Amino acid sequence: MKKKSERLAKETLTRVIGEYPAEPNNQTPGPYLLVSGGIHGNEPSGVLALQRVFRKLQTTEPLLKGKIVGVAGNIVALKKGVRLIDRDLNRICTLDNEKQLKAGKKMDFHEASEFNELLKIVEKLENEEFNTSFHFMDLHTTSSTTAPYISVNRNESSFKFAKQMPLPVVKGIEKYIPGHFDHYQTLKGHIGFTMEAGQHDDPTSVDYHEAAIWVILVDTGMLEKSAIPYKDYYKTLESASPTNDNFEVIYRQEISEDHYFRMDPGYANFTKINKGQRLACLDGETIKSDTSGRVFLPLYQNQGSDGFFIVKPV
Ligand SMILES: [Zn+2]
Repeated sequence: MKKKSERLAKETLTRVIGEYPAEPNNQTPGPYLLVSGGIHGNEPSGVLALQRVFRKLQTTEPLLKGKIVGVAGNIVALKKGVRLIDRDLNRICTLDNEKQLKAGKKMDFHEASEFNELLKIVEKLENEEFNTSFHFMDLHTTSSTTAPYISVNRNESSFKFAKQMPLPVVKGIEKYIPGHFDHYQTLKGHIGFTMEAGQHDDPTSVDYHEAAIWVILVDTGMLEKSAIPYKDYYKTLESASPTNDNFEVIYRQEISEDHYFRMDPGYANFTKINKGQRLACLDGETIKSDTSGRVFLPLYQNQGSDGFFIVKPV
């Protein structure tokens, strides 16, 4: 039976979705985990998963070392149910933009103010006295159906952190698309990853995001395994992906604004391809793959500047 989609309560959406423990008196030193959802406004899954996690934490009140903070990304876009307002928030989180915003410079696109609020939260958490190490997870979904997977920057600590999860890990996207929120936090010296849970409106995407948050809370030592049905969450993730391999991004198909791009039907994340295989059509011209590998993030929606990527096992 198909599960019904949860709806995001847009009226009551706030930047900070939850903090646990919320009371300063209940705080103990430990790792800090910043989890973000909805950096793309058409991806409510991460926000819904965070709301579930905080509801459960507030009801069961388990002992937690350190602190988990959940934040919403592009709030205005989330409320409108659109991917972005002026620019892709997941491309403008650069150190240069941070510098300009901190200098009080006004920028002429909406997402600058969303990034400004996010970086203030990151900075505040960096300076909290109980913070012994800073971890993050950025929760996303994709336009086409996909098994859940993790994307990490080229950083050994983040890679190790990501491999605690029973999911395939893709390395090196930052070379092709710098300025994503994960990239920003990695450049600030924090350890974490981006998780893609599945298709935007698939209710199981929320289940996978939720399971991932619980698994990471236990694996970082913040939460005792016995405090939650850990095995169930772990199995949910383990059984969701066809592969547990690691991959590296080796190619990006760029689409500029005035180009007409159409991905050939039938491609999904990690679909195996051969050299010379037809993949898409750009302004009436056929695009064939120069190499064998696997298709990654094929674009089946109207908005976006990445047609597809190609990854290879490492
Ligand atoms: Zn996204």
